[in-house]
Amino acid sequence: MEVHNVDLTISAVSDEQYPKTNIPEIALVGRSNVGKSSLTNVLINRRNFAHTSSQPGKTQTLNFYDVEDKVCFVDVPGYGYAKVSKKERERFGKMIEQYLTQREQLRGVIQLVDARHEPTPDDVNMYNWLQYYNIPTLIVGTKIDKVKRSAWNRQLSLIKKTLDVENSTPIILFSATEKKGKDDVWQWIEERMGK
Ligand code: GDP
Repeated sequence: MEVHNVDLTISAVSDEQYPKTNIPEIALVGRSNVGKSSLTNVLINRRNFAHTSSQPGKTQTLNFYDVEDKVCFVDVPGYGYAKVSKKERERFGKMIEQYLTQREQLRGVIQLVDARHEPTPDDVNMYNWLQYYNIPTLIVGTKIDKVKRSAWNRQLSLIKKTLDVENSTPIILFSATEKKGKDDVWQWIEERMGK
């Protein structure tokens, strides 16, 4: 999709604040620092539109980015972030769960994992959870520019094996610095938008 206009529609802390529109939504989930903001910025052709939302002390919110009034990216703050209080984590876990299980216009979730390493137990839990709720999922392996080309297949297999990835879940290797994988990610999003 040719992207010109993007708006940060809303930062929500609870469901009554979610946008009242019916635009299809694609949520992005992953551990803090995995490259979620970088992926978002590449997809929307911006250098620094989406900022990391994971700094200590910063309120954790769901950020809705309206892209051309056609699709809305929903940035779900990174999981596995130890520096927020237990109470904050619980509150936030409930909000994510409610959003992912009840939002009608949610068409799919992009789960980011760091392609340099084996997916973590948090990654595995997240993936299992998404499959349990039958949420169409795309796995994006980030920072692939940091992996030698000769090792790409090995890392792909490691992600597949560790997450026990289902056949219905595609995996795309991605690099924000080289914009590798951008078209494939967009293709998946556009397929989901049509559903
Ligand atoms: P977020 O916390 O998931 O939103 O992560 P960011 O997008 O802020 O990225 C975290 C760090 O990883 C930053 O220093 C980015 O520059 C770096 N990074 C993100 N994606 C890539 C990538 O594809 N390649 C490389 N080499 N670095 C990346």
